[in-house]
Amino acid sequence: MEISNDCKQVWDRCLAFIKDNLPEVIFETWFRPIEAVSLKDEELTIKVPSLYFYEWIEAHYIKLLEGAIKKEIGPNAKLLYRADIDKNSPVGSSVIPSFNKDITNNPMKPAPVIINDSNVKEIPNPFIIPGLRKIKIDSQLNENYSFDNFVEGPCNQLARCAGYAVAQNPGKTPYNPLLIFSSVGLGKTHLAHAIGLETKRLHPDQTVLYISAEQFFQQFIDASKNKTGSDFLQFYQRMVDVLIIDDIQLLMNKEKTQEIFFQVFNGLHAMGKQIIITSDKSPAEISGLQPRVLSRLKWGMSAELQVPDVNTRIKIIKKKIYNDGIQMPEDVIEYLAYNVNTSIRELEGALISILAQSSISKKEITIELARQMVDKFVKSNTREITIEYIQKIVCDYFDITMEKMLSNTRKGDIVAARHISMYLARKLTKASLVTIGMKCGNKDHATVLHACKSISNSCETNKSFRIDVEEIEKRIVN
Ligand code: ADP
Ligand code: MG
Repeated sequence: MEISNDCKQVWDRCLAFIKDNLPEVIFETWFRPIEAVSLKDEELTIKVPSLYFYEWIEAHYIKLLEGAIKKEIGPNAKLLYRADIDKNSPVGSSVIPSFNKDITNNPMKPAPVIINDSNVKEIPNPFIIPGLRKIKIDSQLNENYSFDNFVEGPCNQLARCAGYAVAQNPGKTPYNPLLIFSSVGLGKTHLAHAIGLETKRLHPDQTVLYISAEQFFQQFIDASKNKTGSDFLQFYQRMVDVLIIDDIQLLMNKEKTQEIFFQVFNGLHAMGKQIIITSDKSPAEISGLQPRVLSRLKWGMSAELQVPDVNTRIKIIKKKIYNDGIQMPEDVIEYLAYNVNTSIRELEGALISILAQSSISKKEITIELARQMVDKFVKSNTREITIEYIQKIVCDYFDITMEKMLSNTRKGDIVAARHISMYLARKLTKASLVTIGMKCGNKDHATVLHACKSISNSCETNKSFRIDVEEIEKRIVN
């Protein structure tokens, strides 16, 4: 079709006006892909890539568009859209009138006009969506990151319950969006996948998509380059029922991607679709996100994953070795659980290096090997002796339970164990008297000080007692 220069120039001037009045990303997404087709008797026809495109522009930008066109053509200007209906449709495309709709009522002008256009362009996009019908989408979920493999503990109870509720009724709980946050290696990605997998299991008809914020950003950059930004937006707003975006903090200071995320979010949320987001910071600490984006994240529910306590760490190790069909002595499991207390990722790292080392060197898995691996591979600060580990070794030595030691009982052997724990905590850790007291059965600092003095005295006066204390200390530090 011959396009008159006139029509192109007029449209370019309209675009310049529109561009001045919109954020760049919106302009690039919604207006750049439009082509002017013809201008006849003050009637401008523009070609939009899809019907959805037309709907969106009519719903959001028509006043601006109308202003631009009337400014260029005059107060009686009319606008027609030509839109692809469906690339498989025999009809090809349709022409739809916009403002000054008198043309639709004019018996001389039948509307909407359906015309055939064999040159209707295909949109090069990985997410090409013929006619926006439901297509099968790879959810990008990792089967290993299931709820079954996600060990429950006080550290993750809230997030796990919320995630479970979301999977039962995606989009229909108050947890929308569900924001899961924690520092690295504490299970955000795992839990996000688990929610996705469970949702798919319970609702096979729902389209679930997991994507890292980094991938989302890359896709958007590619789409912008290829001028398929609107396909990108359509895909996310229309094709996905449950959207999981991992590590949202990676969008920090990426203004355009945030803009598009904001639109995706609004579109999905308005349609009651579920959004799940993870972040390595709490909503209060996230910086570099636009305030309105941040405010959306706070709409639903935020749940934190905390560092697991030692019992949960033991359960996690046991689960992993059970899944791998490996046997490991109990004392090695405990050693790891007590000494690697930064993140679950580090715990796994230590476990894997022990298994690897033992199989390479054909050595048995012993506490000695565990110690070497932890020293070598785990961040140095995790090797710092913890008060909990000291208590554990003391309790094992005297064969008493932790609960007994932490209780208020005045029985001689239990008091001795409690005092030795305090004494060794004072000697081997940097903890304050107050902290030691708190962790040793909620005692005050004076009690700790008294305990330390009494143990030193006993060591000086009682040889067998001193040997006991030295032996315990040896077990702790070696
Ligand atoms: P994050 O995304 O917070 O950095 P990940 O989800 O990648 O952390 O978790 C790190 C590792 O720890 C993964 O291998 C994951 O399977 C494991 N993990 C985390 N939380 C748990 C848990 N509660 N139970 C079992 N494994 C867990
Ligand atoms: Mg992660």
